[in-house]
Amino acid sequence: MMSYDTDVFVLGGGPAGLAAAIAARRRGFRVTLADADRPPIDKACGEGLMPDSLTAAAQLGIHIPDDAGHPFRGIRFTGPANSVEAPFPGGVGRGIRRTTLHSLLADAAADAGVEMLWGAAVTGMDGHSVRIQSSTLTARWIVGADGGQSAARRWAGLDEIRRESRRFGFRRHYRMAPWSEFVEIHWSEGCQFYVTPVAEDEVCLVLMSRDPHQRIDDALPLFPAIRERLSGVQATTSDRGAFAATRRLKRVARAHIALIGDASGTIDAITGEGICLAFQQSLVLAAALEAGDLRQYEAAHEQLSRMPVFMAEFMLMMDRSAWIRRRALHALSVRPDLFRTLLAGHVGAVRLGEFARTAVSLGWEIATA
Ligand SMILES: Cc1cc2nc3c(=O)[nH]c(=O)nc-3n(C[C@H](O)[C@H](O)[C@H](O)COP(=O)(O)OP(=O)(O)OC[C@H]3O[C@@H](n4cnc5c(N)ncnc54)[C@H](O)[C@@H]3O)c2cc1C
Repeated sequence: MMSYDTDVFVLGGGPAGLAAAIAARRRGFRVTLADADRPPIDKACGEGLMPDSLTAAAQLGIHIPDDAGHPFRGIRFTGPANSVEAPFPGGVGRGIRRTTLHSLLADAAADAGVEMLWGAAVTGMDGHSVRIQSSTLTARWIVGADGGQSAARRWAGLDEIRRESRRFGFRRHYRMAPWSEFVEIHWSEGCQFYVTPVAEDEVCLVLMSRDPHQRIDDALPLFPAIRERLSGVQATTSDRGAFAATRRLKRVARAHIALIGDASGTIDAITGEGICLAFQQSLVLAAALEAGDLRQYEAAHEQLSRMPVFMAEFMLMMDRSAWIRRRALHALSVRPDLFRTLLAGHVGAVRLGEFARTAVSLGWEIATA
């Protein structure tokens, strides 16, 4: 038997890395995590945790206190001519500042006994060894949680892409009471804004666009309702941007190396499911590590992605085609029951069969609208 410095080494201490470390630690593994940055780590994010993210967090033993962030009841789609909203079928979601979430996760990892190396850039990987600045550490298992531009993915030879499309996201906060109990997604030509309540007196605004040059101030005139709401309101943060791809990989694990979170593929940010997926993947990864078989993880990873991928594809179709967007918004506004079921499916509260029937009905409504 070879002896290692640690059982599980996690490269990256964002939400996915911290969740993976907590889940592995709870199964009794010795876990070391390294991140080049230091907590609390900020990132451009819509900052919405759907009810299924909160369920997965609870399963990981991560407590998100009621006074952290702000609850939201469901989702509202708004276009120039139509609007439709639906509550989540059970429970609420939570808007929470990214830095607050990161602190909560880092505290939970410390409580679980994860050894954390902050300000420690990983510069290479070879077999069971990882290079962290000038030192080397060996691990039985290596988890690549280093985000969308993952170097671990490249070092492990797992960067073969099945499918990719690119968008760009920018976020800004405003000091104001949320005007809605819903996360609102506003649709226009080539871009969307979404608005998440994150505190009693703060909202988070995100622009998603295909145009790498478009910024929040360029896009606001396309959304008169939002521009009016925000007129004269003070922004509390400067803009932070991120590359937001939809990327599916051929493989997410090999031998003793697994990828998790954005390193393992991404769905479009507009779905608001990135962190949920990372939490759910952490749970199944820890079980696979315990079983000593990462093929289990690959299969579960694929299954977890199915519904979010479907929703992302639907929303990206609405983004690309004005014809589909107009008809979909009209169809959903006259058939809010379909929107309710789609949303329930999105947060894992209806079975695939019912969800598929709803998708077919929606397709029919769009075609005949
Ligand atoms: C505009 C936008 C809006 C979004 N909105 C939402 C939302 O509302 N809800 C939601 O659930 N999801 C949302 N997402 C998705 C969500 O932000 C991501 O899915 C999530 O951040 C993934 O976490 P991660 O830990 O995999 O990656 P990251 O958060 O990117 O963390 C990766 C970590 O790895 C570290 N790292 C990288 N390389 C190295 C290295 N060589 N050595 C050491 N450390 C390294 C980095 O410092 C970083 O801390 C959004 C994304 C975008 C872009």
